[in-house]
Amino acid sequence: MRKLAALACPFVLLLLFGCDSTGTESSGGTAPPTTTTTTSPPSEPSTPGTVGQVDRAAMNQDAKEAVQAIGAYWRTNFPEAFNQAYRPPRVAGGYTGTDGPPCGGEPSVPFNAYYCQPGDYLAWDEDLMAAGYNQIGDAWVYLIIAHEWGHAIQARLNDDLVSVQAELQADCLAGASLEGAAKQGLITIEPGDPEELAKTLAAVADDYPWTKQSDHGDVQERISAFRTGVTGGIPACTT
Ligand SMILES: [Zn+2]
Repeated sequence: MRKLAALACPFVLLLLFGCDSTGTESSGGTAPPTTTTTTSPPSEPSTPGTVGQVDRAAMNQDAKEAVQAIGAYWRTNFPEAFNQAYRPPRVAGGYTGTDGPPCGGEPSVPFNAYYCQPGDYLAWDEDLMAAGYNQIGDAWVYLIIAHEWGHAIQARLNDDLVSVQAELQADCLAGASLEGAAKQGLITIEPGDPEELAKTLAAVADDYPWTKQSDHGDVQERISAFRTGVTGGIPACTT
């Protein structure tokens, strides 16, 4: 996600709309997601302990860089977008299984990622990160962190700005922050990242709490919400 030298096509717009041969954004706001998306879950449902070849140090470095970029994006854009001061959430970071920080007295859930409102922090199971990192790529890490950060943003807003479809709004805010971070040069995109983002949104493996359809919407709803944030920025997510 961070090493691309030259952008042939702006970030996730490639994924969501495709780009024409000049490398400019296509204008088709009504275009459907491209066929790079898939409704298939990762090839093999991962179970803890089978994530195999993941370079955890590299994965954690990606997570660190995602936190820095997404954090910088919100620090610089939240005050103007919402006309209020911004205080960042705490990032508790990775845990394993049930050894994460309790939230409201509840233990952490294996293979989950979450924003804890009472404690105002983000946390994620490193095995969840590793499974997606292994099967999809580093964009998985960026999207999960951006989504959970979206919940932290929701917690800072007046109720009338928070969608009843909170999960889809978090996907929208994730799209806004990742696209915005790319435009601001906080992250750069490697070839393959757009496809990885699509796969992440499409990875509705029900064995992951994080991707449960009943909580988060189906693939098309998630991609649509993410696309709204990419194209419309923060305001598109709160109207
Ligand atoms: Zn969520």
